Amino acid sequence: MNSNQQLWSTASQLLPGGVCSSARINSGLGHPFYISRAAGSKVYDLEGREYIDLCLSFGASLLGHAHPQVVEGIEQAVEMGIMCAYENEWHTRLAEKIAETVPCIDMLRFSMSGTETTGYAIKLAREYTGRTFVVKFEGHFHGFNDYLAYNYWPARGDTWPQVTPAVQGMPDYLQDGVIVLPFNDFERIEETLSERGHEIAAVILEPVNYNSGTILPQPGYLELLRRLTTEQGALLIFDEILSGYRTGPGCIQGSYDITPDLCTLGKAIGGGTPLSVFGGKRKAMEHVSPLGKAQHSGTFNGGLVAIMAANAFYDVILEEGYYDALLGRCGRFYEGVNEIMVRLGFVGRVQGKGARFSFLFGPVAEKTSIKNYQDLMDNEWGLLNRFYAACLNHGVYVHTMLHHGLSSAHTDGDIARTLEGIEAALREVMAGGPATDGSAAAPF
Ligand code: PMP
Repeated sequence: MNSNQQLWSTASQLLPGGVCSSARINSGLGHPFYISRAAGSKVYDLEGREYIDLCLSFGASLLGHAHPQVVEGIEQAVEMGIMCAYENEWHTRLAEKIAETVPCIDMLRFSMSGTETTGYAIKLAREYTGRTFVVKFEGHFHGFNDYLAYNYWPARGDTWPQVTPAVQGMPDYLQDGVIVLPFNDFERIEETLSERGHEIAAVILEPVNYNSGTILPQPGYLELLRRLTTEQGALLIFDEILSGYRTGPGCIQGSYDITPDLCTLGKAIGGGTPLSVFGGKRKAMEHVSPLGKAQHSGTFNGGLVAIMAANAFYDVILEEGYYDALLGRCGRFYEGVNEIMVRLGFVGRVQGKGARFSFLFGPVAEKTSIKNYQDLMDNEWGLLNRFYAACLNHGVYVHTMLHHGLSSAHTDGDIARTLEGIEAALREVMAGGPATDGSAAAPF
């Protein structure tokens, strides 16, 4: 038994599956892959072996692990007493930076997880409009709160037009508050908003659907959502928990020049510490208590450790040339992977936007248009899981999920090593390896 198996065996007695979050099971291996420490672009297993990290704390470590300025910020928070249920000027300083860079944000609030933050945004939209229904899109993930956990990655037969809870344990009546539609379907959204617009509080989406394979909005689709929601008095909410800061400080809304009414931010902004944000237009945010009746309160909201880390995060991303360097490397990496696949005669490609990307394996990679979740259901999950397991044999850590990323800590040397590792892993997969005991079919 190696150290990983030993820990898994002990941890499983206490933590279901041996993990603190179900998504941390590596389905290529059939068990968790434990990490003893992380630094910059690397993670280290329990035996100290080094891997280039393409998981990056599920997207929370855009600056790489333990960026020195983030560490300094955290040290400052420690000196100030690690306080969490108090306010000081650092909250306002960070809020100013966010409001200056994220187009839709005039006012905001800080929370912990993305799951709770998207839930708050929905409650605010309902309070603001006095309406109940929320439109969401199949394959768009917004965390496991009870309002939005529908049609995340439904199995065939459970897909739209069926509305399928993504988790058990939610009361059936909650389903009555949600309308699920396919992403990038111009007709369906027009039909829904024109027939039921007066009942709809909000339309929420991942403006780039990383959680189903980095599916981009079709030209004109975000514009259409913006026009229809404005016409109907519903709020347009961009869930940028994952997409935020991947393309620039203005997030996806800045890249596509579409300003929603509200947005949520999370993951990257905390520099690896737990911080999320919901914010938006003043007229909507003025409905948050004590100005209005939408409640938002919590002991850990805006805890100083995360606030100081996020202030440092902002200082780093606003440095001149930060995004040119990051996005330049990402582009070269995506081209490099695609070149390897063509050279090896492997049917696949990378689908990337900014600093996050997905692998498409098999015939889906050759589709000329990928509009929504159902277009990607045939991605070859079993093969992907074998590839992720093979990457571990070649010094690259890719978690078994639908999106992966690069950080600004990845150097040109790291990119070269990663491409070598990916090429070796693809060769191993093409030769029939490696054997995995993971669940071959499911992406999760
Ligand atoms: N929204 C999106 C778009 C996400 O990608 C995620 C997490 N992957 C969440 C919400 C939930 O965030 P958290 O894991 O912090 O609860």
